[in-house]
Amino acid sequence: MSDLEKFREEARTWLEQNAPESIIGVRFSELDGNWGGRKAEYSNPDMKIWLERMADKGWTAPTWPTEYGGGGLSAQEAKALNQEMAALRIPPALVGFGLTMIGPTLLRFGTEEQKQEHIPRIVRGEIRWCQGYSEPGAGSDLASLQTRAVREGDEFVINGTKVWTSYADKADWIFCLVRTDPDVKKQEGITFLLIDMETTGVSVSPILLISGKSPFCETHFQDVSVPVRNVISEINAGWTVAKALLGHERTMIADTFGASSGRGQKRSRSVMAEHAIRYLGEREGEIADPVFRDEVARNEMDTRAFGLTVQRAKDAAKAGHQPGPESSMFKIYGTEINMRRNELSVRIAGPQALGWDGPGFDEEEIAVTRDWLRSRGNSIEGGTSEVQLNIIAKHVLGLPD
Ligand SMILES: Cc1cc2nc3c(=O)[nH]c(=O)nc-3n(C[C@H](O)[C@H](O)[C@H](O)COP(=O)(O)OP(=O)(O)OC[C@H]3O[C@@H](n4cnc5c(N)ncnc54)[C@H](O)[C@@H]3O)c2cc1C
Repeated sequence: MSDLEKFREEARTWLEQNAPESIIGVRFSELDGNWGGRKAEYSNPDMKIWLERMADKGWTAPTWPTEYGGGGLSAQEAKALNQEMAALRIPPALVGFGLTMIGPTLLRFGTEEQKQEHIPRIVRGEIRWCQGYSEPGAGSDLASLQTRAVREGDEFVINGTKVWTSYADKADWIFCLVRTDPDVKKQEGITFLLIDMETTGVSVSPILLISGKSPFCETHFQDVSVPVRNVISEINAGWTVAKALLGHERTMIADTFGASSGRGQKRSRSVMAEHAIRYLGEREGEIADPVFRDEVARNEMDTRAFGLTVQRAKDAAKAGHQPGPESSMFKIYGTEINMRRNELSVRIAGPQALGWDGPGFDEEEIAVTRDWLRSRGNSIEGGTSEVQLNIIAKHVLGLPD
């Protein structure tokens, strides 16, 4: 037996013995994900136990170095672990911006002191992070951001407002872009700063959307003092760090879409095929309606092919390759495929996919509606589709401005 097969077998045994029964097969969407943090609430207390067990092994961040609490696994071992979890229908113990965005960025750009301070707390799910990039006047043109940081001795004093800060009301720390020099080319006066949300002067106001509940917030900074040691990389060199983090964000978004058709699935039929059979009926083991059968098959194939492509990029990332402008290709294709999948789900379910609440719609139907509405934001979050096309044109294809 090869070392990898031995690892796989040991991992499977450990998972079978340690994953609490009540979490097996739980739908792990945004609504019930375990994002950790000081304010975490666990509707199922077993999720907390699961997090602690996985964190003790470092398997919440399987490839991160053991000296910071990570699992120290190779890319192949981490992949085998993921595959075994999927086969056993065990949800991840921890998700969130710590693992997918700021953690990898700190590992690359952070000082030893910063890594020691933050990485173990991310691995253990003790701190939840949010992202302070966008501002009322700086979205696609992010480099125009105006949140001002003025140095006073060993501290920066921050004033300004961030917008669309997802889950700022639930987060403990924010990674933020601030303007430290207004008199140079806009990209050259930006600094990447970590801020504890409990610092005096930080306040958060939720943004209500047409649907009512929303994860978005406005985050205000009024004379907020932040130690200079919280700067990642150099003062005024934040744009490079910001772009590197966006590469991780776009790959993460694409990964979510590429995996979403088959994750946690043990049966031979896909979730989408089950959904279609529920509303359109079954004939000889297949979706009864031939037109929808064709559409479902096409969507499944595209999703699988995309999932494998993203997996290759993830394997390369685990082996030390930093995501570059090609992450924009993943982001845009992932966005398209996820929006198409949600449209298809709604068309299949017909009027039953138009419920938001109340009697007449079961939990699954409400999830179809909400997932569809949520997917509309995919072409905006992490950089709009138009902006991704610009990046691909310029930095991948080398086309002129
Ligand atoms: C679900 C979701 C979650 C988000 N979470 C966060 C978060 O946690 N933290 C955070 O900081 N931000 C977050 N955002 C904000 C997001 O990053 C911005 O909305 C996005 O960058 C676009 O900026 P904007 O909304 O200001 O639109 P604008 O930049 O004003 O764009 C408006 C329109 O103009 C187009 N456009 C703009 N510039 C160009 C160009 N050069 N070429 C062609 N077309 C162009 C855009 O594509 C878009 O269609 C989130 C957004 C969404 C939808």
